[in-house]
Amino acid sequence: MKKIAVVGAGISGLSMANYLEKHNIDYHIYERRKKEDLAGHGFLLPQEGIEYLSQIIDPKLLFNHGNFLKKYIQYSHKGKILAEKDLNDVFVISRHALINILTQNISPDKITYEKTLTYDEKGKLQLPDGTDIDSDIAIISDGSRSRIRREIFKNEKLRLVRENEIVNIIQNEKIAACIENNFMKFHLEEGGLTFGILKLSADSILWYSQFDSEKYKISEECSIGSLKKYMTELFKDWSPLVSSIIKESSYKNAHLWQVYELEELNPFYQDNVVFIGDAAHPLIPFTSQGVTSALKDSFTLTKHLIEEENTGEAFQKYEAERKPEIEVHIANGRALLNQFLLPLDQHSKNILPISYK
Ligand SMILES: Cc1cc2nc3c(=O)[nH]c(=O)nc-3n(C[C@H](O)[C@H](O)[C@H](O)COP(=O)(O)OP(=O)(O)OC[C@H]3O[C@@H](n4cnc5c(N)ncnc54)[C@H](O)[C@@H]3O)c2cc1C
Repeated sequence: MKKIAVVGAGISGLSMANYLEKHNIDYHIYERRKKEDLAGHGFLLPQEGIEYLSQIIDPKLLFNHGNFLKKYIQYSHKGKILAEKDLNDVFVISRHALINILTQNISPDKITYEKTLTYDEKGKLQLPDGTDIDSDIAIISDGSRSRIRREIFKNEKLRLVRENEIVNIIQNEKIAACIENNFMKFHLEEGGLTFGILKLSADSILWYSQFDSEKYKISEECSIGSLKKYMTELFKDWSPLVSSIIKESSYKNAHLWQVYELEELNPFYQDNVVFIGDAAHPLIPFTSQGVTSALKDSFTLTKHLIEEENTGEAFQKYEAERKPEIEVHIANGRALLNQFLLPLDQHSKNILPISYK
């Protein structure tokens, strides 16, 4: 039996572990953070993501921890409805809940937290104390700015995308009650600034704000107090729902995301190392396809590892199956980003802010 090391316990690494577990393939996961620090905010999942998740976890668990969205409503910044579209099985769930659900099937002795792995010149994964990891296959799921990927593909060009995102969760029963299960997104008419609202549960709301990073400069070092002040000022004359959420929120756990993309995708594997999820292909948040793509990577890689004796062939088939679809999402993400930067009256008729194949 081949020994498999998985690096990173985000959605990609954990979903990979679940697929391996399902097929009785042995593995060990290494995660840099503490278990309790793997929280984060939330995700939109299209129908396909739910189907893949349902193969590895009990769908009832999933449905108890998130919400199906009914309708996408596009608003002007002042709150005038501009367009509406019924949503077909789009689901919203907090990252914390999804991480917890995915961790339930993994025995604690198969996961080591607080260990940052490196990749040395001899092509070995190493623990922080310099010990080599004894594995035949290394599955790398260490995120969009993957250090291991940069170590292997030294010439890659990772660039900042012209969009920053602030994501936050607010606990407020009164506001949650008035949102229903709609995906509400408010847009500044001149483009480059939006505010999205999604209800996670009866008392919690996920909100995010997308900024044109050339027009709105927010530093990563910005303090909680100054971030709140900046947001309150920026959104003060937006719809009362937006400004009340901005005002009522605690910014303790708000996160500013600087978004990166690869100028060109690297191969998804080299020798005995294979990349999945954001580590293989950073996708900009506009696509809402990061989680679903990670799940499909894990499913596809497991399938080929089972079917092929030869690991190299399994990796090759995995890449051939996954790369074309990822390229579509990258192109859609760039189109959605370009549209976001334009004034609203120049947007296309396709209003849904999600990438579909
Ligand atoms: C603002 C924002 C909004 C998004 N919204 C959506 C959405 O609505 N829907 C959607 O589907 N996707 C969304 N995404 C994308 C989604 O978050 C990711 O695609 C998805 O979570 C898969 O991530 P991952 O597991 O590949 O990487 P990550 O979540 O980055 O996980 C990588 C893990 O590896 C660990 N790690 C890193 N280096 C090492 C190391 N050397 N050794 C050990 N461990 C290491 C990290 O601590 C981390 O836990 C969004 C992303 C952003 C930034």
